[in-house]
Formats: sequence, C-alpha cells, structure tokens
Amino acid sequence: MNRLVPARLVVHGLSILGLVFMGEVTTMYLLPHLAPGMTDGWLALLDAALVCAIVTPPLAGFILVPLWRRHEEQRTVAEAREANLREDGARQQFEAQLGRALSLVDSESEALDVTRRALVKVLPLTPVELLLADSSEAHLRAAIRVAPEAQRGCSVESPRRCVAARRGQTLRFPDSEAFDACSHLRDRDMGPCSALCVPMSVMGRVVGVIHAFRPVSDSPLDEHAVPLEAIANQVGTRLGIVRAAATMQVQASTDPLTGLLNRRSFESAATPLLRAGRPTVVAMADLDNFKRLNDTYGHEAGDRALRTFARTLRTSLRGHDVVGRLGGEEFAVVLPDCTTEDAVRALEGMRTALITAIARAGVPPFTVSVGVVDANAADGLDALTSLADKALYEAKRAGRDRIIVAGVGAVDVGEAVRTPRGALES
Ligand code: GH3
Ligand code: MG
Ligand code: MG
Repeated sequence: MNRLVPARLVVHGLSILGLVFMGEVTTMYLLPHLAPGMTDGWLALLDAALVCAIVTPPLAGFILVPLWRRHEEQRTVAEAREANLREDGARQQFEAQLGRALSLVDSESEALDVTRRALVKVLPLTPVELLLADSSEAHLRAAIRVAPEAQRGCSVESPRRCVAARRGQTLRFPDSEAFDACSHLRDRDMGPCSALCVPMSVMGRVVGVIHAFRPVSDSPLDEHAVPLEAIANQVGTRLGIVRAAATMQVQASTDPLTGLLNRRSFESAATPLLRAGRPTVVAMADLDNFKRLNDTYGHEAGDRALRTFARTLRTSLRGHDVVGRLGGEEFAVVLPDCTTEDAVRALEGMRTALITAIARAGVPPFTVSVGVVDANAADGLDALTSLADKALYEAKRAGRDRIIVAGVGAVDVGEAVRTPRGALES
C-alpha cells in the first residue's frame, strides 16, 4: 500500500469531522435562531442532508480518485502492450514476407534484388548498403547500395578490417565524432553521422555486413537493428543455399580435373547449336602418345598436361564455342557460326598457343591431333563426332600433331598453319 494513504486517511478524516462539526453548529445553533419557526423534524432532516452533503464528496473522492488513477495506469499499460503486440505482429509479418520472397529465388542476383527491396522497406530514406565478400572472402564490395542523395558508403575493404564482421555482432555508433566510433565513419559527405552495422553470415562464416547511416541530427537507427538483423539472417541463409546449389550444379556439369564440360553437359550444350541450322563445325582432339607421357613422367605430370591443354583450348576459342572433355585425353568442340577454314585457323592458333603454355606450365612437351567436320556432313551430334573421330584417326595415321578436315584432309590456312615437331612423336 502507498505510504501516504494513512496520512491521507487522517487528513480526510479530520476534514470530514471538522465539516460535520461546522454543519452541526449550523443546524443546532444558527438555524434555530435564523428560522425560529422550524420544527425539530425539519431541523433533523436538514441536519442529515447537510451531513450527507458534507461527507459524501470527500468520501467519494477518497474512494474514487485512487480507483480512477488505477484505471488510468491499467489503461496506459494495456495501450503499451497493444502497441508492442502491433509492433511484433508487423515484424513477424515482414519476416514471413521476406522468407516467402527469398524462398522463390534460385540465384544470387535474385536474392540480392529481394534484399534491396527489403532494405528500402525498412529504411526508405536512409543510405544503406550490403557489403559482401567475393569468393576469396578477402575483399568486400558493395553488392547493394541504397543511397538517397548518392551518399558514399563505407570504405572498408575486407571482412577482417570491419569490426562488426570480425566480432560477428551488431554494432551501433550514435555519433561518428565520438572518440570510440568506428574510424570508417569519419569524413562522410553528410558530415557527422550515426550508424548501424549488422554482420551477415553465409554457411557459418561472416562474409558481409549491412551498413546503414544517417546524419547524427536525425532520429537514431537503434530501432531498426531488429529488422536489419532479420534481413541479415534470412538473406545469409538463402545465399548459402543458393551458392551450395550453384556449386553442386557446376560440379555435376563439369569435369573435375579440367573444369571443362563433362560428356553429358557437352551434349546438352552442343545439341541446340547443331539444331539451329547455322554454319557450324565439330572437332575432336586427342593428345598424342599420351600413354607414353604418363609412363615416362608419371600420372601427376599427365594430369597437369591435361589441365594445360584444357586451359589452352578454352582460352584459344570464343566464349560461345562449346568445349568438353569426353573422357581420358579426348576433347570435343562445337564452333557455331563458323566455316571449317575458320575452325582450322582457330585450332591452329590453339596449337601454337599450346607450345607457349607447355613451356610456361613446365609440363613435359606433348602435341595434339585434331579431326574436324562441317556440321552439314551428317545429322546429329553422334554422327558428327564419329566423322570427326575418323578424321582424327587419319591425323594419327599421317604422323600425329596435325589437323585433318573430314573429306578434305589437311587444310592450308596460310600463315597460321604450322606443324611443330612434338618431342614425344613416335
Ligand atoms: P595416341 O597418340 O594414339 O592417342 O596414343 P595415346 O598413348 O595417347 O593413346 P592411348 O589411348 O593408348 O592412351 C591414352 C592414355 O591416356 C592412357 C591413360 O593412362 C591416359 N589417361 C586417360 N585419362 C587420364 C587422366 O585423367 N590422367 C592421366 N594422367 N592420364 C590419363
Ligand atoms: Mg592419345
Ligand atoms: Mg585417346
């Protein structure tokens, strides 16, 4: 009970007694003198009415005021609770909406697009950015920048240099000029600012940070920590799933030794090109005397030779040429929008580049034979690779280290033609 209540009781009690006493004086002594004709019955009635009139208001006040105060307190508490519930409801709704939006994406760029929209929803008029590390996890770059009035963001270069990322916890900086503020907040275009830095983890590693900042005179960013943390958690989880799926897809479609397409994905990439009906060339390449290279220098040197060849083949051709390793030391290429002369010229360039690449990689010298066929010569990938294989066999029989076009033989493509003597020629 309130400590003042007994004192108030005494004060109220004394005032009531005082008033009753005054009332009694009035009805017992004054009224008989002022109205001498009034009967005792009327006087008693008047006395009772006066006492009631005097006693009721303080008594009512004494009972009702605390009741009213308690009611007001309860109303304030109920209103605050309701506001909290409303806030919780809005937060849960936002998080559920974000979860649904992220569940629909299946690439990193789509996930980043959802993130951008979520950031704008939480902080529509505040510069905010998502700094995300590249695959080496060494460099941070602004993957998203929502920057009203083109505000320049944080200049931190790596997760190691960002204190929020390093600690893996949200950091609040109320004033960039405070001596314990992050040094990356100084010298912003907007002058002194407050900031919120929320780290983002992907597969258990902090690889990014959401960074929001606004002039120090604006309202503090503290209340936005919870939704920004929700964005960081959900987006980090989704990025992890999307990246793992992309890695698995790459692993499933590429040859692990060389990184080129494996047989299955080569076939699915090549088939539509052959169906397009445009001038196209198919080529098969096979390393010469590769068994001997393996036997002489070891399997590991053979693997390095295969990687060197795959890299040279890939970089010597155009980006949209389809290059695959069909197995062992056999490679296939589909060159769209290309004549056999163009193809032979490109492949001769590759053979020249191979000499330099072999020297640079320090692998034992080797050569390659290639069979080439015009896509008009047969229908379907299988038939064309089989024709290219026959041309390749001819190249082997003719002494290896050369290019043969099916039905044509060796093609003179001018200066580009060269027949270097491989060190392991039989
Ligand atoms: P040719 O000039 O007629 O093609 O002779 P070749 O010795 O290259 O052909 P052959 O088919 O006799 O030998 C192919 C060799 O390739 C045998 C195998 O050990 C080797 N090889 C296949 N796959 C790999 C691989 O992944 N790594 C290594 N190091 N060697 C491989
Ligand atoms: Mg071979
Ligand atoms: Mg072979």
